[in-house]
Amino acid sequence: MFIDRIELTFDAAHRLVGDPGKCASPHGHTFRAEVFVTVRELDALGLGVDFRELKGRLKTWIDEHWDHAFLAGEGDSVLVEALRAVPETRLYLFRGVNPSTEALARELFGVAAREFGAIVERVRVWESPAQYAEYVPDLIPLGAPPTRPAAFGGAPSASGSLA
Ligand SMILES: [Zn+2]
Repeated sequence: MFIDRIELTFDAAHRLVGDPGKCASPHGHTFRAEVFVTVRELDALGLGVDFRELKGRLKTWIDEHWDHAFLAGEGDSVLVEALRAVPETRLYLFRGVNPSTEALARELFGVAAREFGAIVERVRVWESPAQYAEYVPDLIPLGAPPTRPAAFGGAPSASGSLA
């Protein structure tokens, strides 16, 4: 298996409604996003993916939606109303969640997965040189009880056989 990665940077503003610290104040970051894809086979050129295509399509989306934009929670009505009073404002709304770095990583993962399908493995978004959030889709639901093969003392599955 091969893991390919592209990196993009963009400038955006956000705030976290309800944060007891200074993140409730509108502020900006130079965010850095990393998109990882996994491929099993190489194409005729010996490539896993075409980096130009991967980076180009994601850069286009980020330029259109996030770069020099204000990322706001849809429910942050005070801020959204204020920003809409400024005609030049580029506004991107997050539904049902604060525009945290975690939410950005999940959102960009969704964009990348729509563009490139199941090869997209994870998305990491750095909000500063020292901290990032990463989104990886759950393959095993978190909190699921551990399962062990019967041969190792685990309970047999409902059908009585191991898949
Ligand atoms: Zn921030």
